[in-house]
Amino acid sequence: SFTTAAVVEQPITPPIQVNYTKLVINGQFVDSASGKTFPTLDPRTGEVIAHVAEGDAEDINRAVSAARKAFDEGPWPKMSAYERSRIILRFADLVEKHTQELAQLETWDNGKPYQQALTAELPMFVRLFHYYAGWADKIHGLTVPADGPHHVQVLHEPIGVAGQIIPWNFPLLMFAWKVGPALACGNTIVLKTAEQTPLTALYVAKLFHEAGLPDGVLNVVSGYGPTAGAALASHMDVDKLAFTGSTDTGKIVLELAAKSNLKPVTLELGGKSPFIICEDADIDKAVELAHFALFFNQGQCCCAGSRTYVHERIYDEFIEKAKARAIKRTVGDPFKQGIEQGPQIDSEQFEKVLRYIRSGIDSNATLECGGERIGSKGFFIQPTVFSNVKEDMSIAQDEIFGPVQTILKFKDIDEVIKRANTTRYGLAAGVFTTNIDTANTLSRGLRAGTVWVNCFDVFDASIPFGGYKMSGIGREKGIYSLNNYLQVKAVVSPLKNPAW
Ligand code: NAD
Repeated sequence: SFTTAAVVEQPITPPIQVNYTKLVINGQFVDSASGKTFPTLDPRTGEVIAHVAEGDAEDINRAVSAARKAFDEGPWPKMSAYERSRIILRFADLVEKHTQELAQLETWDNGKPYQQALTAELPMFVRLFHYYAGWADKIHGLTVPADGPHHVQVLHEPIGVAGQIIPWNFPLLMFAWKVGPALACGNTIVLKTAEQTPLTALYVAKLFHEAGLPDGVLNVVSGYGPTAGAALASHMDVDKLAFTGSTDTGKIVLELAAKSNLKPVTLELGGKSPFIICEDADIDKAVELAHFALFFNQGQCCCAGSRTYVHERIYDEFIEKAKARAIKRTVGDPFKQGIEQGPQIDSEQFEKVLRYIRSGIDSNATLECGGERIGSKGFFIQPTVFSNVKEDMSIAQDEIFGPVQTILKFKDIDEVIKRANTTRYGLAAGVFTTNIDTANTLSRGLRAGTVWVNCFDVFDASIPFGGYKMSGIGREKGIYSLNNYLQVKAVVSPLKNPAW
């Protein structure tokens, strides 16, 4: 009963080669200790793009040793902060020069629209490194006026070897959020990429070394979670762990960290973010923003506005327009101009999204449009809209991580705050209203790490991001990320002349 642009059956070949497929350990591209490789797939077709060295526990050991040596013996943590900052800036300049190839590689490995990779993610990546390069020489401790004749300095030191585990939905941005602050603070790193998207991190690691990053400071290990990821989380010589991914895996890595050396852990996990559209909203604008909030990046955003609450007075009109907008959404080869939505990342996510669609239908939500796969190969799914959704349905509780909008009806502000907070997650929320009092009441009442008022998915290097409840522990970006990568040392000494 509706049309969506058909998938381009003959995929457009990206005009690039895959040059970097080995692990990055101690400034060298190396094979895995086992010699094993794994395939990384093109989500448009399911075909192999390249075989990549598969790191596991032995490679994590080698990478941690390199990072440990680079931390303990320097020069990185002992180098002048200005020099560190200049290396990071040189790296950002190199990434700018390679923007097109990197955007192509990202689209190829991940399936996201090329225009989005080129015009949004790569510039944000560069901006983030500029931001943290600026911090490098502004991180300093303080003195405190303790009682008694003592001189007290509080030093802020790098924490040591940082272990970082990232997901596949924004491979480059997740690299930047993790690596930027860790390096600015003078740490060394072992980063494990997601097995679905290993390619761009290897490419930028090469650029980091061209920019003058000393060997061993940034080690990149491609591989699977239960092997390489678990080895990193439980390593006795890793001083800090930062993880982004699902809540279930977040619990596993937190436990591994606790059972090994009690390394501090920051977690960016899943979400089920409400987007609340009030009765005074301009409906056309609200429809467009709610559509973007959910469908952006194929619906694969941890902060996706995946519960659209609409006031009862505008509900029917909103549904009609939201459905019309979803039907118009262009789905197809992400390298093609004008395509808004590419394929889901892999067969596992594709099947999971289709299962949730069936569960929505079975639980008597109204399927307004979509619901099927598109084409016969690759992992394309029709933009799907459900109305008549109730909080007790699993499509309103679980993170679907796909192009499925679920719309719920509400009557008044107090009620919608309560209902919006009935979730185990608390990553983000959106509010759409022209009334400042309503905006203030909602933003104070919602238990979420970010509230976007009359906007959504506004990211900036300086804005902290992270979750309440089971959406995570800690904040990334901005000044808040620095604390994740610093130790605090109090140095106390007697004052010879207390009068001074
Ligand atoms: P995941 O949590 O399984 O994977 C994220 C990262 O953790 C990957 O690098 C993976 O290799 C690693 N990992 C997996 N198991 C591990 C283990 N036992 N020990 C250490 N590391 C391990 O997530 P996924 O399978 O890629 O996606 C599943 C769900 O995660 C999605 O449906 C979505 O709900 C959520 N997700 C959230 C985000 C986010 O930004 N918050 C990003 C991607 C996925």
